[in-house]
Amino acid sequence: MPPAPGRHKLPHQHQGTAKPHGGWKDRKGTRQERGYGKDWQAIRQAVIARDLAMCQPCRRQGRVTAFDEVDHITPLSQGGENSAGNAECICRPCHKRKTSREAAQARRMAG
Ligand SMILES: [Zn+2]
Repeated sequence: MPPAPGRHKLPHQHQGTAKPHGGWKDRKGTRQERGYGKDWQAIRQAVIARDLAMCQPCRRQGRVTAFDEVDHITPLSQGGENSAGNAECICRPCHKRKTSREAAQARRMAG
């Protein structure tokens, strides 16, 4: 991708006023990162680059599937680290399966 001229030019910003809605973040599909902050953005990018944007659970089963999201291998709620080492690319069906398995585990542990 060639560098776009004037890419770094920001519109004039007022200090101390409420942030306007919309603006630069017009893209859809990134709201799942809410709550993770900008560290997670960097981790995410690193994980996508490392995993070549392929679903890792599928890859371990010899399948090549494009990823849909970057997932924590050990959920933060279970003491997982918010780092690239604890994250991998995952497709939606795998994520769904993993989430339901985790829910079942949590139920077992609670009971
Ligand atoms: Zn998968």
